[in-house]
Amino acid sequence: MSADQLRDTQNALRAQYDDLCAAGLALDLTRGKPAADQLDLSEPMLALPGEGNHLSPEGVDCRNYGGINGLPGIRAIFGELLGTGPDRILAENNASLQIMHDLTVFALLLGTPDSERPWSQEPGPIKFLCPVPGYDRHFAITERYGIEMINVPMNPDGPDVDICAELVAADPAIKGMWLVPTYSNPTGYTVSEQVARALVSMPAAPDFRIYWDNAYAVHTLIDQAPEPLPILDMAAEAGNPNRVYVFGSTSKITFAGAGVSFFGSSTENLDWYSGSLSIAKIGPDKLNHLRHQQFLVDADGVRAHMARHRELIAPKFALVLDILEKRLGEAKIASWTEPDGGYFISLDVIDGTAARTVQLAKDAGIALTAAGSTFPYKKDPNDRNIRLAPTFPPIDELAVAMDGVATCALLAAAETLAE
Ligand code: PLP
Repeated sequence: MSADQLRDTQNALRAQYDDLCAAGLALDLTRGKPAADQLDLSEPMLALPGEGNHLSPEGVDCRNYGGINGLPGIRAIFGELLGTGPDRILAENNASLQIMHDLTVFALLLGTPDSERPWSQEPGPIKFLCPVPGYDRHFAITERYGIEMINVPMNPDGPDVDICAELVAADPAIKGMWLVPTYSNPTGYTVSEQVARALVSMPAAPDFRIYWDNAYAVHTLIDQAPEPLPILDMAAEAGNPNRVYVFGSTSKITFAGAGVSFFGSSTENLDWYSGSLSIAKIGPDKLNHLRHQQFLVDADGVRAHMARHRELIAPKFALVLDILEKRLGEAKIASWTEPDGGYFISLDVIDGTAARTVQLAKDAGIALTAAGSTFPYKKDPNDRNIRLAPTFPPIDELAVAMDGVATCALLAAAETLAE
């Protein structure tokens, strides 16, 4: 564009933006939460297990204390879906994030079974690799405990494994890595088998741990969800049986506030974890395990339930992608991912304009996840990435919000280019 054309475009966009502000919107695209109609799919579970129905199939009285590893039935269902098998997985309470947090704290205080000393007593700061863009709550855990975070690029087939291998081989203070292997938050990318094999076999500190957070293992938007990789077997075959922690939960399957979480790993790691856990509690909420088991029945039951979620959210993803293409496709000021599953779309705007786009949207009454959130320390080195979360708002509000976001991205780009 010539300077004159750019000025005209900027003026036209400013007028569009003023109209947007005048509309007095109050819309929220910030968090990846299920919408009420998705939660309604699991409403019948509220009547389970029901009065007089408190025994698990193996005869455990779920009303009472005990059973630190969780009910076998629910572990079997998610052992299949997460690729760990039924014996190397524990069922816990309502937040897999808490298990990730606790594992980190236990390692800092006590060291893992493979640590020479507690992580907190290492001579220098310990470090985690963070594929970016990534999940803000992962980064919040490591930031909270002073663990240094190192950005590594997240590619469509997983983290850049050459960079990861080079870093961990050179620095034994790198003790962990965050990773969402299926329909990653926020890109929607899925780790390939080849990348997974390289990650479990690369030379690293003996107590290096991959936090394999398979939160979206079954959250597909297409007919064929990826099969879960048998990552624990792959790690064992590579001679690193304790390297991987597998996580999952029913937060975005049943109820986001009242689901069941899962932790899969080697027997040695599971024993180490439950050793500390059983000091902290006498057992998990087995009644919730039982009601989930009764409601979901088996792995196919979960897949069928997820197909109903898909019917509700696929139109929202399609709408967002359609608006992005229509409004931003031609201007070439942005690129975005087109996920086959998960909860997010990752939008990259022109370098240096993400924060401005989010601010413009906020001033127009459209709340977006804060710019930078998808990076450690909330610092996006290029000020480029914005996480879009299409599931929660009703579809008519989503359309208005996304159109508004597109206007803001265009205006921010025009302002920058005109400088
Ligand atoms: N892991 C990822 C990658 C997520 O995106 C989320 C929620 O957005 C969670 C974990 C939270 O899981 P939970 O509710 O089991 O703590």
